[in-house]
Amino acid sequence: MTGTYHIWTIGCQMNEADSRHLASQLEALGFVETKQASDADITVLNTCVVRQQPEDKAVRKLTDLGGVKKNRRHGMIIALMGCMVGKREAEDLAVRFPFVDIFMAPSQTDALIEFILQHDAYSHLNRAQVELADYRLPAVNREKTVTAFVPVTLGCSHVCSYCVIPHRRGPDRSRAPEEILSEVRALAVQGIKEVNLLGQIVDRYGFDLEEGINLAWLLKEVARIEGILRVRFLTSHPAYMDEELIRAVAETDKVCPCFEIPFQAGSDRILESMRRGYTQAEYRQIVANIRKFVPAASINTDVIVGYPTETEEDFLETMKLYGELKLDLAHIAKYSPRPRTLSAKMKDDVSADEKESRRLRLDELVARTMGENNAPMLGQTVEILVEEFQEGKNRWRGRTPQNKIVFFEDSTDRFGQLVQVKIEWAGPFSLIGRAL
Ligand code: SAH
Repeated sequence: MTGTYHIWTIGCQMNEADSRHLASQLEALGFVETKQASDADITVLNTCVVRQQPEDKAVRKLTDLGGVKKNRRHGMIIALMGCMVGKREAEDLAVRFPFVDIFMAPSQTDALIEFILQHDAYSHLNRAQVELADYRLPAVNREKTVTAFVPVTLGCSHVCSYCVIPHRRGPDRSRAPEEILSEVRALAVQGIKEVNLLGQIVDRYGFDLEEGINLAWLLKEVARIEGILRVRFLTSHPAYMDEELIRAVAETDKVCPCFEIPFQAGSDRILESMRRGYTQAEYRQIVANIRKFVPAASINTDVIVGYPTETEEDFLETMKLYGELKLDLAHIAKYSPRPRTLSAKMKDDVSADEKESRRLRLDELVARTMGENNAPMLGQTVEILVEEFQEGKNRWRGRTPQNKIVFFEDSTDRFGQLVQVKIEWAGPFSLIGRAL
């Protein structure tokens, strides 16, 4: 063993994927995971700054870590990674957190590996070890993980008025298809059953590659890989969701009928200020199209409440849009001004109380709608991919193709299998059934 490492991750699935990749690289160098940052020779914080709240969390964590490092006899390498570290931020951060050894922009895991290789304590390690790590699952995931997240489109160029991501992750670009397919093949060999293709705007995949290479094509290619039972993708942007993609989902059995398409706001005036590039009517049309080709599809969304100048009437348009479309899930965020974004120049004029009231009202509508959408599933048989055994509750947990959570009891080992389950109880957030 070379030493120990600890990675703390917050934020989106892209961060999860970056952390997993870094863990496998560190393990290839002989580092072993430890659950406690205080025991680690190398600690990495993989951060999110999409709203103020996760940023505050990361800052608290980092400050604590500074104290831990002081008290450690053998010292500690601290790496700060993810969206807290943009090109322009690194210098300021170095002044604020002098105990951090290295700052890495999102996905730049190689920078830490280089740093370690240059470090006196680790001069016996060699770079070739890391190359072997490519696409290897880290020990914590091996034989315990069903789903892998695979980034396919990196960065984002859309520049929505409120969003910090383009400033931190850079312009969008597609990963080479051969690289993605090799990664998925390697994951399948290691027991991964489901892959989730990721991008800030995943439906932009291939825009910078040769003709004919797009997300629809990629989904079909990934679905062909032996051992992969299910393929998912997220997040889609309404402006890039075309009929070819919807048809690919409809025609490819292994591709799950589940769409993640944020609408963010119902009011056209707010959508325009957000620079989203579509109207409420256009969003409705996309939902209608999905339901025409993929009638069984679930459609999930993201919504921001309390964007600058959002009135009660604007908010009611959001409620109306969600309620009329009866979407399956909404991730609701209260607007939070972010540095260097366009909307940060506008006054954050919806009060904290009003934002919370809007969040609560929408949350209640979402829960009610989810309950109504799930109720007809009672008595139906669904196919679920089993991802975990919950010891305390003595039951298996898995998901339907629509990504709804299902629990069932079974004394045999069902891990990683597709199981037919008859639903006997349907709540808004989960279903309970009996294995057939
Ligand atoms: N690229 C994806 C996801 C971006 S971040 C997309 O196009 O949607 C995930 C979600 O965080 C967004 O969908 C949005 O709902 C929310 N979000 C982003 N910036 C925000 C901000 N400044 N305040 C509140 N929520 C925000």
